[in-house]
Parts: sequence; C-alpha cells; structure tokens
Amino acid sequence: MYNDDCIFCKIAQRKIPSDIIYEDDQVVAFKDIQPLAPVHLLVIPKNHLSSVNEVTSEYEGLIGHLFGVIRRLAQEFGVAETGYRVVTNTGADGGQVVGHIHFHLLGGQALEAKIG
Ligand code: 5GP
Ligand code: ZN
Repeated sequence: MYNDDCIFCKIAQRKIPSDIIYEDDQVVAFKDIQPLAPVHLLVIPKNHLSSVNEVTSEYEGLIGHLFGVIRRLAQEFGVAETGYRVVTNTGADGGQVVGHIHFHLLGGQALEAKIG
C-alpha cells in the first residue's frame, strides 16, 4: 500500500508533518505547502498509485469515493457555489512533480481560464 520512498505516503502515515484536514481508511486530504489559490488542498488515496496511468478498473470505487471527499471538502471550504478546479498533473509533460497520484482542489478566487 505505501511506498517507503514517497513523500505523500509519508504524509499519509504522518511520518512527516503536514496540515491534514481529512482522513478516512482510503483517502487523506491536506493543505498544499505552496498554495496557488486561497483554497489549495491535495486529496490522495492512501494506496500508492504513481499517476492516472495506474488507475485501472479495480480502483473505480476508490476514485469515486475520492471524488465524494472532494465534493464535501469543496462545501466545507466554501467554494462549492463559487466554483473550483480539480487538477491531476500526470507525467513530465503534465507537470507532475510528486509521483503519488494527487488531486489539487483549487478555489477561493477566479482562476485563470487557461488550461495547459
Ligand atoms: P504536482 O506538481 O506533482 O502536481 O504537485 C505537487 C504539489 O505538492 C505541489 O503543489 C507542491 O506544492 C506540493 N507539495 C510538495 N511537497 C509537499 C509537502 O511536503 N507537503 C505538502 N503539504 N505539499 C507538498
Ligand atoms: Zn506514495
């Protein structure tokens, strides 16, 4: 489930500190250390998956659950009505830096329309 060399696995296990705002048996959410918007959360599965490339059908339930967490966090952080963006960078060209799949939840201001 966990990868010993992965920073987000360490965060999920609370081996390194972070501002964890939600946790259940499958998912952890914490504040991004370098926020790009007033609300900038990272939502991850505890199970180490490197990227979207590893999201096979066996993880459909997990990803559905994770989006339910995103929906509730958007409400909790007050951006459900004003709007927000969910971003998953994948691979080098996608700008992925941390090799544990994560979903950025960005909001609290009008975000640039630009994608890519
Ligand atoms: P990526 O570019 O891989 O999509 O995004 C990685 C994100 O993880 C970045 O927004 C970065 O600020 C965040 N990040 C990297 N290391 C840490 C850390 O140790 N703690 C927290 N809370 N966020 C981190
Ligand atoms: Zn990991």
